[in-house]
Amino acid sequence: MAKVCIDCQKEVAGGRAVRVKEDRIILMLRAVKRALKISKENELYVCGDCIEIHEKRRKSFEKTMLIFAVVAALIIVLMFFTVVLSGRFELWAILSGILIIVLLALFSIIFKYVPATEGAEAVLVPGEPAEKPETKPKRKKQAGKKKGGK
Ligand SMILES: [Zn+2]
Repeated sequence: MAKVCIDCQKEVAGGRAVRVKEDRIILMLRAVKRALKISKENELYVCGDCIEIHEKRRKSFEKTMLIFAVVAALIIVLMFFTVVLSGRFELWAILSGILIIVLLALFSIIFKYVPATEGAEAVLVPGEPAEKPETKPKRKKQAGKKKGGK
């Protein structure tokens, strides 16, 4: 499993980064990606270069969600009053209203989700990057040994 920055997709192992909180939405998104077979199975981080902008994006995302919640609540209240005032209970109208809210919420989460991080400061991530930049090739212990394996 590679450790990557979710904002710039760079490897963070061996560098400074902060872990992304594995909240329910992250788990849900991962489950969706697994189902679609597009999951990269990476460990999610935000690297030191991206942390500042990420925190800003997170704050604006939280604001967007708050506005969304208020609008959704207003729509539900409005639907409730429509039912009360008209004296008719139109199940399909209410169900479709709720469905639209749920779909909107899902889409905005899937495409705009900015996960929280476990801290505001990047720390050293242990481990070595999976894809190393060119380094001196290590001397082989035994010549002629089979390649591959662990
Ligand atoms: Zn980054």
